Amino acid sequence: MTLVDLHSHSTASDGDCDPAELVARAAVAGLSVLGLTDHDTLAGIPDAAQACESQGLRLVRGCEFSVSVWWGEMHLLGYFLPLGDRALDAFLFEQRQRREKRGATIVHRLNAHGVQIGLDDVMRQANGAAVGRPHVARALVAAGTVPDVQTAFDRYIGGGCPAFVAKDLPAVSEVTSLVAQVGGLTSAAHLGRRASRAALGRLKDSGVDGVEVRHPSHDEDTTAKIERLATALGMLMTGGSDWHGDHGGPYRALGDVTIPADWLERLDDVANIRARERKG
Ligand code: AMP
Ligand code: ZN
Ligand code: FE
Ligand code: FE
Repeated sequence: MTLVDLHSHSTASDGDCDPAELVARAAVAGLSVLGLTDHDTLAGIPDAAQACESQGLRLVRGCEFSVSVWWGEMHLLGYFLPLGDRALDAFLFEQRQRREKRGATIVHRLNAHGVQIGLDDVMRQANGAAVGRPHVARALVAAGTVPDVQTAFDRYIGGGCPAFVAKDLPAVSEVTSLVAQVGGLTSAAHLGRRASRAALGRLKDSGVDGVEVRHPSHDEDTTAKIERLATALGMLMTGGSDWHGDHGGPYRALGDVTIPADWLERLDDVANIRARERKG
């Protein structure tokens, strides 16, 4: 059995395990292919690649971008991304800087709501990683403001809450062209109920190559529906556990959500064609 999980996070963004530990856990879970898809960074890839090599796993180099679409924020998974590409690295660097600025704004809002917390508390939790709300949540837990991460999201930083701050996002087409230009592929992440035929068609027109069919937030009906739509529209299919750690909120265990090997073969085929086109 080839077990493939194409969606996971490490300490390079908001996951609990460093890349080597993540790979070790993936091996224990019986995975043979792991996609590392940290938010707005490829910083975990080199360590993950080394660990995969020594554990006999295949690593798919990925990244989870946050992009703007007609309803607001959408997550876009990028795969087969090169390391050391100047345009891609510069783009990701800017997104991380925006994340840091947003972190400061969130802290200001929290302070205005009487929550005593500093940006340094958040940065300590991030420890050099791409800053995200989970780091704010962990800082709030460490400060004793809330009992757990989930409560931090529910009371303060989740959508509609007093300290929620939207990201300043790039357009989806900006990211799909950048990724295509460097020879990668994109897949619209965890669309859930947003996944209609019209929505997927529109995303495809924006250059999105595939769609995340299997995800812990997708129930059986949603999964079946997205698979049907992807097939009808000729889009690639991806999926994975979106594992952030054992305390990662609504997520299941690493390796609990896997995709068939032939979905990965199709991804490989398209990526190979794209790589050849770039050379020729
Ligand atoms: P950000 O990119 O900074 O907006 O943070 C989004 C990340 O926060 C997601 O990728 C999840 O890891 C986490 N997250 C989002 N909503 C929740 C929630 N309700 N409870 C726990 N974690 C969440
Ligand atoms: Zn996350
Ligand atoms: Fe996401
Ligand atoms: Fe994710």
